[in-house]
Amino acid sequence: MNADFAPWLDWIDSQQDTMLARTIALAEINSGSLNYAGVNAVGKQLIEYAAKLEGHVEVLPVAPYEFVNASGDVEQTPLGDAVRITKRPEAPLQIFFCGHMDTVFPIDHPFQTMTWLDDNTLNGPGVADLKGGLMIMMTALEALERSPWADQIGWEILFNPDEEIGSPGSAQLIADAATRVDLGMIYEPCMPDGTLAGARKGSGNFSLVVRGKAAHAGREHHLGRNAIRAMADFIAALDDLNGQREGVTINPGFIEGGGAVNIVPDLCLSRFNIRLESPEDEQWCLDNIASILNKINGRDGISAELHGGFGRKPKVLTPANQKLFELAKSCGAELGMTIEWKPTGGCCDGNNLAAAGIPNIDTLGVQGGKIHSSDEYMLVDSLSQRARLSALMLMRLATDTDLSWLKER
Ligand SMILES: [Zn+2]
Repeated sequence: MNADFAPWLDWIDSQQDTMLARTIALAEINSGSLNYAGVNAVGKQLIEYAAKLEGHVEVLPVAPYEFVNASGDVEQTPLGDAVRITKRPEAPLQIFFCGHMDTVFPIDHPFQTMTWLDDNTLNGPGVADLKGGLMIMMTALEALERSPWADQIGWEILFNPDEEIGSPGSAQLIADAATRVDLGMIYEPCMPDGTLAGARKGSGNFSLVVRGKAAHAGREHHLGRNAIRAMADFIAALDDLNGQREGVTINPGFIEGGGAVNIVPDLCLSRFNIRLESPEDEQWCLDNIASILNKINGRDGISAELHGGFGRKPKVLTPANQKLFELAKSCGAELGMTIEWKPTGGCCDGNNLAAAGIPNIDTLGVQGGKIHSSDEYMLVDSLSQRARLSALMLMRLATDTDLSWLKER
């Protein structure tokens, strides 16, 4: 290892207990995506923790979340505020740091407390996804700020409130950041064995509302137009698209409709998710869905209305992104860690950043597993280990005399 970096990296070990205590404090605040008060409480805490970084702090409200409710109507609900902290916008290299404050656990979910599974394994809501990562990010940045190389790097942190519902409110803030920065570091958890996520699939969430006509099932069955039947036909045709195009999968995941069985149902709602590998897959999906919908809408007395879209573009690894992974690997090797990466069907804010042409690594957070379930855990010693990895990457970037590779698209 370049001996010059050692003191700044060793300082991180002295922060292990603070990182852990703060991760627990953040995880004890419920911040389900729609619990905006909880998300804002996390934001307030993070602003306090970030004070030592001496950046410029902004609290940015985001647009409310729009969704189709059980009556088939579009409803809005407020989201927590985003927090942006910036420093040295004039520095030669600009880096975007991102981590979300929300979790998948709503305020009424039973999973709200921490349990130690063994000395090094902490089970708790959001400890891995992504509150531990927030502490890694801030500690690595603080190590850089304490070092002599800080002047080389300007940075922008975004703590966003809505990643777990696809970043509808903060997508614009990420796109804006992409116009100002050279690369991104995002703090989603890596795999339990330390493997990073490489290429990622794109994703779209859709809701379909089918309306028919109610009628008495006995006396006037012929006057009814059955919304459930139309929806069933739609879903069958939709599901049949699976296997027709490499890399595209469609998951009808929710259906609701009808009521008393002596009434022809006039309303049915379904929700589905699509994953895809290449940007061109989107149009193929939209064209096929449109043609199915055309047939359904052509039926007498039936109307079908599609909501939603592809919120996450696929993350395809550019040459610059490959080299960024190589940098992480070589930094890991200096620190005695084996860093590998592999493609995943999951997606995150790294997709958004990659779609805007910015190379990024999006799993620089803790080693952890079973996320999005009550068994979520993090490996506690990965807090300081991964903070060392990020800090070394930052110092190597700050001292690299040729960064033209970052522009290789
Ligand atoms: Zn996450």
